[in-house]
Amino acid sequence: YKRQVLARHTRATPAREGAAAVLDALAGAAAEVDPDGLASLIGIAAAGVVDPRGGMVTSATDSIRGWAGTALGAGLADRTGLPVACDNDVRATAGPELAALADSRGSLLYAAVGTGVGGALAVDGRMLHGAAGIAGHLGHLPSPEAAGLPCTCGATGHLEVIASGPGITAHYARLTGTRPDRLETVAARAAGGEQAAVRAITTGATAAGRVLGGLANALGPDRVVVGGGVPRIGALYR
Ligand SMILES: [Zn+2]
Repeated sequence: YKRQVLARHTRATPAREGAAAVLDALAGAAAEVDPDGLASLIGIAAAGVVDPRGGMVTSATDSIRGWAGTALGAGLADRTGLPVACDNDVRATAGPELAALADSRGSLLYAAVGTGVGGALAVDGRMLHGAAGIAGHLGHLPSPEAAGLPCTCGATGHLEVIASGPGITAHYARLTGTRPDRLETVAARAAGGEQAAVRAITTGATAAGRVLGGLANALGPDRVVVGGGVPRIGALYR
C-alpha cells in the first residue's frame, strides 16, 4: 500500500512544564492533524529510553522535566481514546533503514550522531528493544578517546563525550582554549586547514568508528548506517 502524508503540524514542546503538559500538547497535535477523528491508531517516537511493550519512558535526561517514568502510551491513549504505539525516536528513525534492507531477515547497526549519540540494533529483521527498552543506546559505551572525560550520565570516558557535536566542539575548546559557537565553525576551520579543528573532528569520528567497528564484529550486520547531523559536516568526518 502507499504511504502518504495527509497533514503536518508543529508546535513547541512545553518541556519545562512537565510530562502532563507534554502529553496534553501531543493530544492537541493529534487533534490538529485529524480534526474529523478518522485515525484508528497513534504512533509516537519520543526522546529517552522508551519501552514499547509497556509504553513507558524508562529513563531520560531532564531535557523534559519529569519525563523519566512517564506512562507515554497510557497517557496519550487516555487523552485521545485511541490505541498508542510508542518507541524511542532513534529506533523509529532506524525503522525505514531496516525495512530497506534487501533481506527481510537482515541485521542493521544504526548510529545517530548529533547533539548526543544514540543508536538502534536490529537482528534477523527485528528491532531489538532489550530489557526496559535500553538496547541500542550507544552513547554511553566506553571510548578510549574519551578516557577521563566526564559524561552527562555521571560516569567518565563515554563515546558521547567525544563524538557528539557538542563533544567535538568541547574537544576543540580543550585543544585551543577558545570555545566556538557551533560545530559548523569547527568544520569550517578544519576545511581551512587548522590542525586543532582537524584533530577534534577526526578524534570524534575515530571514536565513533571504533565503537561501531566493535559492534559490527559482535553483531555481523548487513548494513551500518550513521545518521544525525554530525556526519553531514563534510568529507573529513567520513
Ligand atoms: Zn555516559
